[in-house]
Amino acid sequence: GSTIGIIGGGQLGRMLSVAASRLGFRCHIFEPGATPPAGQVADQVTTAAYDDEAALRAFCQSVDIITYEFENIPTAALDLLQDLAPIHPGREALRVSQDRLTEKTFLQDLGLQTAPFADITDATSLETALDEIGTPSILKTRRFGYDGKGQARIMSRDDAALALADMQGAPALLEGFVNFSHEVSVIAARSLDGAVAAFDPGENVHNDGILRTTTVPARLTASQRTDAVLLAAKIANALNYVGVMGVELFVTSSGLIVNEIAPRVHNSGHWTQNGCSVDQFEQHIRAITGWPLGDGQRYADVVMENLIGDDMNRVPELANTPDCALHLYGKAEVKPGRKMGHVNHIKRG
Ligand code: ATP
Ligand code: MG
Ligand code: MG
Repeated sequence: GSTIGIIGGGQLGRMLSVAASRLGFRCHIFEPGATPPAGQVADQVTTAAYDDEAALRAFCQSVDIITYEFENIPTAALDLLQDLAPIHPGREALRVSQDRLTEKTFLQDLGLQTAPFADITDATSLETALDEIGTPSILKTRRFGYDGKGQARIMSRDDAALALADMQGAPALLEGFVNFSHEVSVIAARSLDGAVAAFDPGENVHNDGILRTTTVPARLTASQRTDAVLLAAKIANALNYVGVMGVELFVTSSGLIVNEIAPRVHNSGHWTQNGCSVDQFEQHIRAITGWPLGDGQRYADVVMENLIGDDMNRVPELANTPDCALHLYGKAEVKPGRKMGHVNHIKRG
């Protein structure tokens, strides 16, 4: 069988490895951090930095195909990797999603709705942008943000200086605050031969910028559901995408607004592990290895709940609860705000 190289050894890499293993593939993880959660289940792990050329070359030689669970792979590492092994999803998806300015510009050019946004380089550009966009608004670092990190809310113009200081000199984007009724996401997949499939959209609740729960079915009208799936397909096609992607959406009275895209399996797709025959992890492995896309039809209502930090104390109780599927990531240390696992509560009709 062939070997799949996975860049990034967190929980997403771990669950990708498990899915790949079920289909008879081997996995080799490349991860700079020590004791990666994926390392416990993968066939091979390389612990090395992204600028370690020798390690990157050796990694490529041991794999037939490369994918990733992490979109912030340095460009220099990608330049080296792409000449040695096929990478899916491709460079274009990474280029677009690594930078919020590039991402929002790409989405607008596709004719999709986004929050109003402006590139911020200094106090003057922030003042000008606030004149146009107004408050409330959110200042976000253009790169590397996740779980709401690198964001500052601007409720009134008095907050501007403090928000800018929060960016610590990093290039930033000002976004107008979207008055959404709720948040949903689409987990879509595109195969090597261009077929597209999408899982049923999930409804997401965030707390302090971190995903708490995803509920399927989401509260959407039939036409909103169709819009959500079609716009995800439009994005995947425009990027000539191969693999699974997550598209985060705000539901508003004037339609669906795209918040951001993730060129990888997505936390809001974890419900598929217990709600579908083929979950998002297997779907990703199928897509990148040239298999046909699998049956992602939803056969149960599910509430996925992230287990964050001290939520781990609830594991003994959850382990005794019916219709409750636990997925733990094997992380040694519990930290506040750290995703330790998740639980899929299966709702029987
Ligand atoms: P992720 O972990 O999903 O990658 P992130 O750090 O990239 O998160 P965003 O998804 O941009 O951050 O924002 C996190 C959450 O903050 C959103 O899901 C939403 O609840 C809220 N939020 C972000 N941008 C806006 C906006 N323009 N208007 C209203 N709420 C917003
Ligand atoms: Mg993000
Ligand atoms: Mg997000």
